[in-house]
Amino acid sequence: MGSVLVRPPRDTLPLVGRVGEGVAAVLVALLLGAPAQAESFPDFLHAFRAKAVAAGIDPGVYDLSTAGLTPDPTIKTLVETQPEFTTPIWDYLDKRITDRRVSSGRAAIEANRALFAATGKRFGVDPYVLGAIWGIETDYGAVLDNPKLIKPIVRSLATLVYQKRGRLKADEADFIAALQLVQRGPLDARHLVGSWAGAIGHLQVNPSNVVAHGTDGDGDGKVDLQNSLADALATSAKFLVDLGYAPGVDWGFEVAVPKGFDYLLADRETLRPLGFFAERGVKRIKGQPFADLSLPVFFYAPAGARGPAFLMTGNYLVLKGYNFSDSYALSVAHLADRLKGAGDFVTGWPRDTKFPDLSQRKAIQAALIRLKLYAGAVDGRLGPVTAAAYAKFQASRGEVADGFITLQAYEELTAATQ
Ligand code: CA
Repeated sequence: MGSVLVRPPRDTLPLVGRVGEGVAAVLVALLLGAPAQAESFPDFLHAFRAKAVAAGIDPGVYDLSTAGLTPDPTIKTLVETQPEFTTPIWDYLDKRITDRRVSSGRAAIEANRALFAATGKRFGVDPYVLGAIWGIETDYGAVLDNPKLIKPIVRSLATLVYQKRGRLKADEADFIAALQLVQRGPLDARHLVGSWAGAIGHLQVNPSNVVAHGTDGDGDGKVDLQNSLADALATSAKFLVDLGYAPGVDWGFEVAVPKGFDYLLADRETLRPLGFFAERGVKRIKGQPFADLSLPVFFYAPAGARGPAFLMTGNYLVLKGYNFSDSYALSVAHLADRLKGAGDFVTGWPRDTKFPDLSQRKAIQAALIRLKLYAGAVDGRLGPVTAAAYAKFQASRGEVADGFITLQAYEELTAATQ
């Protein structure tokens, strides 16, 4: 219990977020490359060859790409442990959306104005969303020249597969996809570069998704996300479209809710017409009317009743699909607005919130089980299921059922189950 040997999803560690942070505090870097088993790296490469060839990699391409390859000793096995303390969403946003990130982003988009406009028009994707992803992933390309961060990904991915971390299947798929990209060209294995996890180019797309969505943006007949911003933007725009991005639709709206609003309506499984919430007194935060009351949305209050609240559209879910994390999706959404000139969210974050530590989080889940409100694991991971269970507990006591689990939740549940 508690610590599981899995690699964190890439979304929680965008490349830029890693710069200056080192490895995030939730991660403990342990082994230096050596896997638990005794298999040597050359033996591993030899054994993997059949799998790659079966997946369509030309044996000659495999041999050329892996000849003389050694594991990258700087790629540590990242063992994700359950964080003792919760990182609040506002800390995540604060780190990624700084005044400098906004002003340098406006300048970078302005310097590529025609390209952003053309890409937005070609794919029906908000160019500022692409600009925001660019900023969050690579600081508008600034880190792409850093050889400590950007290296040949065939070697990186071979090292990761060799290490057999928790994401082995995804790593194998990306390793094979990287070989497919080499096979396809224009870049050979020495020149196909990306992050330690294999994500490529200005907007950091992993090889499997480059294979699936790679698009030539500058018309030279090749797809090169590292050296062509046009290709990177086109590929990510195509990726968003393939995920179901709806042209011309906002990611969502910050809203104000009336007193007594039923937070149990915060259910993203069911998107409801915007009018459903408007009828219940939900208004845009600055008082503008909603343009389209039939737009399907869901209600989301990531920091509970004391923080900003949103009505989110399907395009927010597309951003989450692009990189599976609410913190990431909200960062992209908000940075896109900031790049357009909008200010911070109107409602502030409840920065004085005290959060339960790991043992208290487990106690919360155990108490919810005792109250027959929760049937999941007691692992201290407070996901949407635990939040929904806690919201029911709040509702049963006549409290605002926002499901936002704070230290107070621990105290109340402890008292209620003693
Ligand atoms: Ca190209």
